[in-house]
Amino acid sequence: MKGFEYLEEELQEMRDEGVFRSLVPLQSDQGAKVVIDGKEVIQLSSNNYLGLTTHPRMKLEAVRAVDQFGAGTGSVRTIAGTFSMHEQFEKKLAEFKHTEATLVLQSGFTANQAILSSILTKEDVVISDELNHASIIDGIRLTKAARKIYKHVDMKSLETALKETQDYRKRLVVTDGVFSMDGNIAPLPEIVELAEKYDALIMVDDAHASGVLGRNGRGTVDHFDLNGRVHIQVGTLSKAIGVLGGYIASTQAVRDYLIHKGRPFLFSTSHPPAVTAACSEAIDILLEEPERIERLWDNTKYFKAGLEKLGFNTGHSDTPITPVVVGDGAKAHQLSDKLLQYGVFAQGIAFPTVQKGKARVRTIVTADHTKELLDEALVAFEKAGKELGIIS
Ligand code: PMP
Repeated sequence: MKGFEYLEEELQEMRDEGVFRSLVPLQSDQGAKVVIDGKEVIQLSSNNYLGLTTHPRMKLEAVRAVDQFGAGTGSVRTIAGTFSMHEQFEKKLAEFKHTEATLVLQSGFTANQAILSSILTKEDVVISDELNHASIIDGIRLTKAARKIYKHVDMKSLETALKETQDYRKRLVVTDGVFSMDGNIAPLPEIVELAEKYDALIMVDDAHASGVLGRNGRGTVDHFDLNGRVHIQVGTLSKAIGVLGGYIASTQAVRDYLIHKGRPFLFSTSHPPAVTAACSEAIDILLEEPERIERLWDNTKYFKAGLEKLGFNTGHSDTPITPVVVGDGAKAHQLSDKLLQYGVFAQGIAFPTVQKGKARVRTIVTADHTKELLDEALVAFEKAGKELGIIS
């Protein structure tokens, strides 16, 4: 069909630059090993931090929920799509997060859209770290509030922004808890101190900290012992929790307000019963199987040390997200392709997901990787890295 020649031109430019990517279909479940093109390879690209995507208890609860409540909910939640299990799960999640209330949305992406687009007006300002996730950036695009961007984790820059915005009614400081491309943790204690000094609200997007940091995976706020001092915590159920969804953990007033004004909540259908049941079981598993988090961190240290010993530039990550920074976008994709040839699935990530010149292969180990698998992956990295002249 004619009409999209202009898109084809741009796609061709991407092909010429070596950054055009096809989707890679998995022919297995999302485990420590996956099947791609009929071949079993080590998975280092998923956010399945705790190995919960395939946890037998979660699968069982999902099946039970389908049996009892069906495949879908048939409505947005405000009309006929709220089931008892949705509300029970939100109560459980609020208890887990030590907050007054939570509200679950279809994804972490829509959770950020819902909160950022609804709670601020043109009398307010949102103050955001320059490397915050795309869903925060897009959420901010939807608000009528003024915007200020501060330099990445730079507290002087944040303080300047806070000083310059004293005339606004409300100021909301927004940060990722863990930055998704570099794996560094936000300096939340300093952010909280500054926000309190200047009487600003704080929102943390804990997508990569949910299930990873804090006691039993409660997130960065708990990790830094800041419970009760961060106004809004956004979490995801799509990564360590192993299923799908996002949530906002805050006060009852914020929950009630979002039910009336949060557009992705109001205008998009609720989670199928299987999703909610599996997520609910995941919270019990976080409480009952803390050894998963220990294994995740043990594997993280082991794998990072292995990559560094080989001479790779792994940036400044504090978490299981370990970037292997190679600079050039095409090079990152070449490394990823070679790794796949050698039995490791680790995706290349280039501009616009990361800044130009900072392309990388991003690796994420999980609790389910064995040391043997990690050793095999390191052998593949050594071979591919040497062949491409990334390490000597
Ligand atoms: N926030 C951050 C920091 C993320 O990394 C992601 C996922 N890439 C999201 C939000 C969106 O989460 P979800 O996949 O649940 O939509």
